[in-house]
This record gives sequence, structure tokens and C-alpha cells, in this order.
Amino acid sequence: MSCAAADLALGEQMYDLAARLFPICRSITGDGVRQTIDILSEAVPFERHEIATGTAVLDWEIPKEWNITDAYIADSNGNRIIDFRQNNLHVLNYSTPIRTTLPLAELRTHIFTLPEQPDLIPYRTSYYQENWGFCMSQRQLLELERIGGPFEVVIDSSLEPGHLTFAEYVHRGEIEDEILLSTHVCHPSMANDNCSGLALLTVFARELRRRKVRHSFRILIIPGTIGALTWLATHEGQLDRIKAGLVVSGVGDPSGPTYKRSRRGNAAIDRAFEHVLRHSQAESKILDFFPYGYDERQFCSPGFNLPVGLFQRGQFATYPEYHTSADNLDFISAERLAESYATIRNAIDIIDQDRVLLNLYPKGEPQLGRRGIYGKIGGASDAWRRNLAMLWVLNLSDGRHSLLDIAQRADMPFAEISAAADLLEGADLVAPANAPARAV
Ligand code: ZN
Repeated sequence: MSCAAADLALGEQMYDLAARLFPICRSITGDGVRQTIDILSEAVPFERHEIATGTAVLDWEIPKEWNITDAYIADSNGNRIIDFRQNNLHVLNYSTPIRTTLPLAELRTHIFTLPEQPDLIPYRTSYYQENWGFCMSQRQLLELERIGGPFEVVIDSSLEPGHLTFAEYVHRGEIEDEILLSTHVCHPSMANDNCSGLALLTVFARELRRRKVRHSFRILIIPGTIGALTWLATHEGQLDRIKAGLVVSGVGDPSGPTYKRSRRGNAAIDRAFEHVLRHSQAESKILDFFPYGYDERQFCSPGFNLPVGLFQRGQFATYPEYHTSADNLDFISAERLAESYATIRNAIDIIDQDRVLLNLYPKGEPQLGRRGIYGKIGGASDAWRRNLAMLWVLNLSDGRHSLLDIAQRADMPFAEISAAADLLEGADLVAPANAPARAV
């Protein structure tokens, strides 16, 4: 799929934003999340929420807040062999503080590597079990073995009562029904997972303020799992407003795109993505819901069962760069971000614009030529398609088929059917199905 110049410009803005977010050491709590939200708030007036450690959320509890300033492993001369300042993936995320000198044999039990990918640093966390550790490439571990030790081991972190931080932006449309868009904010320096999602949703929210939309939109920037649980626990009374939702994860890498259906399987969001992917991208993949992945696990838990799908490019945990230091700024591109943006916007537009119309002249075809709309629109080559789209809208606007139903039946892109419907509505040939009855 090629992207329009306007979308590519947005793709470049998303890439630049992802590049600014990339160096920050984020986690499920702490100043990295706040710093990230501060940057995103330059473009969109996000509301920041702070929930205290110890607060009960559903079956969970807000954990202690984690912050880190420095960490390293040094040889006996004080040379840093492993240095958090070079790459924040080097520290097991949520490590407790430590300052000691250890022989390699003892240090070894706190080291994580990827022997199959000897040049890459793995991303590892230990959120709910206190531990400390270092992540490094297999080659760096061999270097430690060559030096032999003992080693000076320092993790200058804190794990103390504090807060969990998340951000929310609500855009009021014409109606109260909401479309929910959510992404996680808890990963340190990885570009696709999750700087790309943060950048895409921030640009999406910014653009929303310049567009006319019917639905209200709610954009969530939340730490994975515990953030979704916290948001759900604090918004239980208003979840029935959510008519569609999407979790956005890795959206800048070269493969995919991949859409994972909601638990319901045939929600509006599922039908919208199936339609857009069918009409725009050859390489796309659609997966049925399964209870593993990103925050769709929480939104689609049986007690909520919200109509929330997942959009990503390469499927998580299947590409070799996933959760490693190879998920860097070379792994994502403005082009792929632009494609992801256009795909999401087109699917969301379907949900926002889909409606049921009624043909006001259902007995025989109305005379379109007399009204000046038959075969006269655009160039000769697409006039035929425009006419066909109008005939489909007239034929199926019996009060039982929405414009998306008609687009699927006609096997035509929603945008073409929607444009034909606008033309027919302008000529008073169709009207909203729920409008007051009128004489024909
Ligand atoms: Zn991840």
C-alpha cells in the first residue's frame, strides 16, 4: 500500500516523536512514565492521573513506585563493563537496589542473556517478585568470564511507596458513545514496542482535534496490565458507552499488519478492520481472539467483554527483534507508521460514519439522470463505479442494512459507498432510517 503525502508527513512526525521517547527508561511506575507523558502533552492536553501504592484495583494492588538513576558492573579497576547509561535494557526492569562486590559465580545467577542471539540484549522485568539483575549480550557475558572478577555491582534504584501514573485524553464528539484507543507506556528503550504506539496515538489524538467526528474518543496511555486494570476499576460505571475499542501496540516495524479480533469476534471494530484490511493490504493477517497479548486481555476479560481489538504490524513474540535491543530506531520507519495510521484511521472512520439509511423511492429505480447525479461524477472511468455504488446504496437501504453491510455485500471500499450515500442524501433520495417519516 502506498501512502498519501499527507499521511507520510504524519509518519515522519510520529517517527520523530518515537525517537524523542526512545531513550527514556520507562517501567510500570516512576518518573520515566511521567517524563514520557510530559512529552506527549506538548501535542495533546492529556489529563494525568496518579494512583497511590497499595490501592486495591480488582484482584490486584498498585505496586511500589520504581525509579533508577544509574547501574553498572565494573572490573577491579573501576572500568564499567556493563553500563545502564549505554542502554537501559541492561537492568532487569524493577530491580531492587544493590551495591556490592561479587565473584562471577554469584553474579551469574542474576544475569540474563540470549544465547541464540549473541549480540542482542534481552528485555526482562520482575514487577511482582522483588529481585535484581542485569541483561546483556552473550558476548558481554563471555567478556565477564574472560576478565574473571570479582566485580563491583551497583544498581542505584529505589522501590518505595509512591504512585502509578497514567494519562487520558477525552475528545467530545456529537454523541456520548465512545471509541476507546489505548496503548501501553511501560517499556524502556524499545522503538516498536512501545514508542511507536505512543507516537501514533498522540498524533491521532492531535489530528482528532482538527476533524469533525460523531463519536466521542477516549485515548489512554497506561502501563501494561496494571494500568488497564486500574482504568477499568475506576471507570466501571461508564463502560457501556464504549461502542468500539482498539489496543495499539507495535505499529512501526516492516511486517504485518496484524489485527486480532475482540473476544466478541463480530463487534463493529472487528468488522471495520476486516473490511479495511481486505481492501487495502495484501499481506495482512487477522487472528481470532486468544487470552494472551496486550491489554485486550483485560478489556476482553469475561466480566467486561468490551468490543476491543488489537492492532499491530508483526505479531508480538514472533519476530526476532521482539523484546530485545534490536527493537531500536532502525527497526521502525515513517512509512510503516504512516501505513498503520491510515489503516487505523480508515477503520475508525467506518465505525464513526456507519449508518442505516432508507430509500425514499423504493418502487423501481429513481431517475438519477433527471437529478444530475447519474454518470456525471468524476472522470469517465470511475463514473461507472460511482453509479454502481449509488445503485447498491439505493437497493439495500431498506432500513435493515448499514453502509458497512452494503460495502461488504458490494465488495467495494466503505469510503466509496459512504460517498455515494452522501450524494443520494443530498438529492433527498435516501434519509436516515430513524428520521421522522416523510411523504414520498
Ligand atoms: Zn512488550
